[in-house]
Amino acid sequence: MKVLVTGGAGFIGSHLCERLLSEGHTVYCLDNLCTGKAENLERIRDHSSFHFILADVCEEVNLEVDAVAHLASPASPVDYGRLSVETMLANSLGTYRTLELARKKGARYLLASTSEVYGDPQVVPQREDYNGNVNPVGPRACYDESKRFAEAMVATYRRLYGLPIVIVRIFNTYGPRMRLEDGRVIPNFLRQAMEGKPLTIYGDGTQTRSFCYIDDMVEGLYRALWEDKAVGEVLNLGNEEEISVLDLARTVMEELGLECELVFQPLPQDDPRRRKPDIRKARELLGWEPSTPLREGLRKTVPWFREQLGLGLKR
Ligand code: UDP
Repeated sequence: MKVLVTGGAGFIGSHLCERLLSEGHTVYCLDNLCTGKAENLERIRDHSSFHFILADVCEEVNLEVDAVAHLASPASPVDYGRLSVETMLANSLGTYRTLELARKKGARYLLASTSEVYGDPQVVPQREDYNGNVNPVGPRACYDESKRFAEAMVATYRRLYGLPIVIVRIFNTYGPRMRLEDGRVIPNFLRQAMEGKPLTIYGDGTQTRSFCYIDDMVEGLYRALWEDKAVGEVLNLGNEEEISVLDLARTVMEELGLECELVFQPLPQDDPRRRKPDIRKARELLGWEPSTPLREGLRKTVPWFREQLGLGLKR
């Protein structure tokens, strides 16, 4: 199959491109490199079935494709804080452009949505039929609301044109190729610990997240893209192992064999208190569930950060 992956030079996108190539597909990777990196494509850039297109997803695209996976968008609070208008456009106009392409080519369409559509959830765990609790004018709204808009548009194309779509809500994901400067909690803690700096805990650290290792996420995305039972569905993808930010800090220190100071900083506005996916639907429709526990995933991620920091390969 010929697959367009928007945001294909990003953290999740580049792993998805690799997976698609390894299964024999042709990949068109479209990215404007605003948060993605060309280095992420080092292993695949010379592959004969890989094509990189340096472009903004808001521009019109015309390619012969059988499937579109729309992942292009800044995704870390630091990035979408800095690139808020770009984020809103990638998720609105970019979604429109890629949906139009899929409609014209009769292609499958996967929208990479986010657990952020649940906002600061009042229901735990979050199931796909929970409509969320989002502040439409807060600092996270550029991301949350534009992803919600993207979902609405994708669902509309399904209703109007019968497009074979799937919406996946990606929960916190981590692993090699996250940027040092990403700003999210796992890259921050790993970097801070390795540099001998205090770990920054926002708020009192009792807020929770559930962290999914990248290989598990890519498996879920790959299945969602091709599984007929997923067509027309909204699916949570994430790890159910919920942990507080304080416990995450302890786990990171234990895994690195380091004791670090903790510094407490203000909790960002609208920071969700608890996040944990209900993945029963993905289990049932995709036969998928994550298999990498947090500690194991951290062990697989540490060498990447050591290398990025020029620290050699020792654990
Ligand atoms: N966080 C933290 N210290 C950091 C970075 C993040 O305590 O250095 C907290 C943040 O406030 C949030 C959680 O960790 O409660 C996860 O944040 P992240 O930015 O990784 O992702 P989010 O799930 O908020 O998009």
